[in-house]
Amino acid sequence: MHEFCIQAHFSQLGLPIRDYVTDLKSVLDQILIGLQEILEGVTDIDLVVNLKLREEALLAKCLGRRICSECGGNYNVACIDIKGEDGKPGMYMAPLLPPPHCASKLITRSDDTEEVVKERLRIYNDKSQPVEGFYRSRGKLLEFDLPGGIPESWPKLLQALNLEDHEDKQSAAA
Ligand SMILES: [Zn+2]
Repeated sequence: MHEFCIQAHFSQLGLPIRDYVTDLKSVLDQILIGLQEILEGVTDIDLVVNLKLREEALLAKCLGRRICSECGGNYNVACIDIKGEDGKPGMYMAPLLPPPHCASKLITRSDDTEEVVKERLRIYNDKSQPVEGFYRSRGKLLEFDLPGGIPESWPKLLQALNLEDHEDKQSAAA
């Protein structure tokens, strides 16, 4: 119904709908960049860290989510173990398994399907690209490929930021 109204309206203006959509997108991008400039002015951002997780791992983690139907506890049955190859490091993320009393009562969210998750990831990538581009062009974007879960990632992130984790020197050096 909406589409029909818009189309009729723009036909009257003599604008092809395709051009209008492209224009709308560039207007929205401009607004987004304007908002980021305001945000940057207010908060004086020094650095933005872009935490990146390989899509196959993200997908497996999303599909591995389980909820206990009795107590509402959140778990994840996916065990990510990708071997390194072609100079790319491997990655390991342990599952978050439920205690025995929850194990038989696990359910999956109805929208945690491969199709829905992939669409969510596509939308996220689409929306985050202008934001990334904004900070990249100002030399304020640090790309960080997550090597695994928090225990694997934290020391390496501190290293990348030239910060030291005094309590965890061992793994930072690893
Ligand atoms: Zn439970």
